[in-house]
Amino acid sequence: MSSRTIQVSPFDLVVFGGTGDLAARKLLPALYQRDRAGQLPDEGRIIGVARKALGHDGYLKFVRKSLHDHVKSVEVDEEALTRFLARIDFCAVDVTGESGWPELAEILAAGVERVRAFYYAVSPDLFATISTHIQQFNLVTPKSRVVVEKPLGTDGESARAVNAAISCVFSEHQVFRIDHYLGKETVQNLMALRFANRMFEPLWNSMHIDHIQITVAEELGVGERGGYYDGSGAMRDMVQNHILQLLCLTAMEPPDAFQADSVRDEKLKVLKSLRRIDERNAEQCTIRGQYRNGSVGGQPTQSYLQDIGQDESDTETFVAIRAEIANWRWAGVPFFLRTGKRLGNRTSEIVVNFRPISHSIFDHTAGRISQNRLIIRLQPDEGMTLEVMIKDPGPGGMRLRRIPLDMSFVETFGVSNPDAYERLLMDVIRGNQTLFMRHDEVAAAWRWIDPIIAAWHNTSQRVHHYAGGSWGPSASVALIERDGRTWLEDSD
Ligand code: NAP
Repeated sequence: MSSRTIQVSPFDLVVFGGTGDLAARKLLPALYQRDRAGQLPDEGRIIGVARKALGHDGYLKFVRKSLHDHVKSVEVDEEALTRFLARIDFCAVDVTGESGWPELAEILAAGVERVRAFYYAVSPDLFATISTHIQQFNLVTPKSRVVVEKPLGTDGESARAVNAAISCVFSEHQVFRIDHYLGKETVQNLMALRFANRMFEPLWNSMHIDHIQITVAEELGVGERGGYYDGSGAMRDMVQNHILQLLCLTAMEPPDAFQADSVRDEKLKVLKSLRRIDERNAEQCTIRGQYRNGSVGGQPTQSYLQDIGQDESDTETFVAIRAEIANWRWAGVPFFLRTGKRLGNRTSEIVVNFRPISHSIFDHTAGRISQNRLIIRLQPDEGMTLEVMIKDPGPGGMRLRRIPLDMSFVETFGVSNPDAYERLLMDVIRGNQTLFMRHDEVAAAWRWIDPIIAAWHNTSQRVHHYAGGSWGPSASVALIERDGRTWLEDSD
C-alpha cells in the first residue's frame, strides 16, 4: 500500500446487474485496481447479483474474464487477482420475484456492521422492485447506501418516479447518483484550479471572460446501443447530465467548503439561473444534428440510420446550444455547449476565452494580440493549457505570438489517471457525496432540458445532417459565428 493510500472501511458491495456490461467494463476493473493499490480492507466483499444461475465458480470465471478483457495485461498479476477473487461472491436473484432474496440476506448477515452498498447496475425499470425487496427482506442497515446510474429518467416526471422508487427506502444522504464525469481527475482539478489559486478567481466573471465553450465529442457512433439511444438522443444522454455538470462546476460561486452539500448548493444555483429556452427561442439557440456516413481516422463509417437499422429517425446525435446564465457573475457571457457522436475525434474540453486586452501599446508590426484562453482537457489527454501572448524570440523587433503553457497530467505526474469509477466507488464506501448529484440538481437540470425538447417537438425543429468524422452540422458553426465567435478547432 502506498503511503498516500488510505484503506476504506470494511464493506459489502452488492452489484445488481453483476454480469452486465457496466460491471464487466467499469465496476470490476475499478474495484480490482483499488484492491491492487491496497485500498480495500480484508473485510471487503463484492457480491454480484443476476438472474442467470452462474454459481460461485461461474461468476469467478466471469470476473476473471472481465479483468483480462478490460484491464491492461501488465496490471493483471496472479497474486492481486487471487486476492481480489477471494472477495467475490455471487447470488442468483430475479429481482422481480421473491426467490433468491433469502440467500442474499444470508450472505449479507455475515457483515451487518459493515458499510453496505447496493449498486443498481440494471435498467431503471427495476429500481422500484429492487428497493421494495431490499426493504421487505430487511437488508437496510444504518450504514447502507445505494448507487444509481444514468439514465435518471427521460424527463422531469420520470426522474421524479425514479427518485420516488429509491427514496421510499433510502434517505437522500444514502443515495449516490453517479455521473462518472465528476470522477474524472480534470473535473476535480477544475475546482482546485479555481479555488486553490489566487490568480483565476478575480478574472472568473463577465468583466474578463468573453465566452466559454464546453465540448464533449465522441468518435464512436451508437454501436450496439442503437435501440436505447434512438429513444433518448444526445440531449438526454449527454447534455442533461455530463455537460450540465461541467457547466455547473465551471460557473458556480465558490462554495463555503469542499463538502457535499456546499458544492451541490452552488451547482443547483447555476442550474436555476440558466435562461429558459423554449418555443420562442429554441430555433436561435439550439442546433440538432444527426450523422450521415463519412470517415473517421481514414475508415469509412455508416450513417446513424444504418447503425440503428431504420429508414428514418428524428433522433439527434449532435446538439449545440447557446446558453446563458442569468446572474450577476455571468450576465452577457454566452456558454456554447455541444456534444455529438461520430465527430472528428474523441475530445472533452472546457475552453475559457478571456476578453481582449483593453488597450494595446504595440504598433501594427507586433501583429494581432490574441485573447488568452484556458483549455481544460478531460479527454483524451487529461490536462490544461493556458494560452498567453509572448514576444517571438530573436532580435527582429517586437513581434507577438500566442503560445500554449501546456500541462499533461500523465507527463507531469508520471502516472496515468485512475478511471473515474475508482474514485467514485471509494467515495461511496467512504460516504462522501461531493461528487454525486443530489435529487434537486437532477430535477433542476430536467426543468431546463424539458422545455427545449418540447419546443423541438412542437415546432418540428429540423435535424441537420453532418458527415461522420466532421465537427457536426454547418448550422453549429453558424450558431457560434452569429455571435462573432468560433469553435476552438476553427480558431487560429
Ligand atoms: P446489461 O449489459 O444489459 O446488463 C444488465 C444486467 O442486469 C445483467 O447482469 C443482467 O443479468 C441483470 N438483470 C437484468 N434483469 C434482471 C433481473 N430481473 N433480476 C436480476 N438481474 C437482472 O446492462 P449494462 O450496460 O450493464 O447497464 C446497466 C445499467 O447501467 C443500465 O441502466 C444502463 O443504462 C446503465 N449504464 C450503463 C453503462 C455502460 O457502460 N454499460 C454506462 C452508464 C450507465 P441477467 O440477465 O442474468 O439477469
